[in-house]
Amino acid sequence: MGFEFLEYPSLNFKTPQTLYDYKIRCLSVKNELTLKGSLIDPNKVDDLLSKILFESIIEKPDTIITLEDWKKNTTVVDKKAFIYYLYYASYGDKYILSNTCPNCKTNLTSEVSLLNGFQATYFEGQPGEILTKIIDVPLPITGYIAKIKIPTIEMSEIINNALINQDDMLQTYLMVIDSFVDPHDNSVINTISQPIDSLTVLKMLPSMDRVKISEAFSDNFNKYDVGAKYRITCTNCGNKFLTEVDFLEQLFRMVQG
Ligand SMILES: [Zn+2]
Repeated sequence: MGFEFLEYPSLNFKTPQTLYDYKIRCLSVKNELTLKGSLIDPNKVDDLLSKILFESIIEKPDTIITLEDWKKNTTVVDKKAFIYYLYYASYGDKYILSNTCPNCKTNLTSEVSLLNGFQATYFEGQPGEILTKIIDVPLPITGYIAKIKIPTIEMSEIINNALINQDDMLQTYLMVIDSFVDPHDNSVINTISQPIDSLTVLKMLPSMDRVKISEAFSDNFNKYDVGAKYRITCTNCGNKFLTEVDFLEQLFRMVQG
């Protein structure tokens, strides 16, 4: 094996929510082929992507040893950050933005630097602290209390497997909600161990209760994120709009060659 001395391009980063330090290397051709092959079976894409992200890690916290440890200690948004950095390490800073003007429908393309569009908001706390944070959200109409938490990759897999073919929006809510507490009799419905019961409660919630959960989640957890955002000015009509790069979509566009 004459190629073992090869040093892959790599970079250091901190996850926005768990605040762990990692070093990640670029994709190899073997990894690209695995990802390309995964597109045949959409149910396996997410799982294979997790495996490849984990394999690409060169340095990680001492407490994270196995893939299972990593899934327990990485949030869904942290995984998005991993995809951003993997993309950057693999394909570099130059990026062709492609958008349609929402006003006049002109197709616009421009070359940008990913680093120039980089925006990050990090959780304020200790590494790993966000994983144990639970927020009580009193719901204004039903009077229930929704206890919400940050979804990890592990939780998202449990919910996805328990509720195959359910609406994506419902699945996202069940990943976020740890449990529902009925203050009238103090009964608790836990979303992980009782996903079907939780789904029933969720579907019955009045819209204003659902909105309250969404707001609390955004304020306490999901504002901590990284991404690449750009302000575009339409060359045809002068309309200005914001656009954000979807790195998952881009990654798959690249591996398809
Ligand atoms: Zn326009």
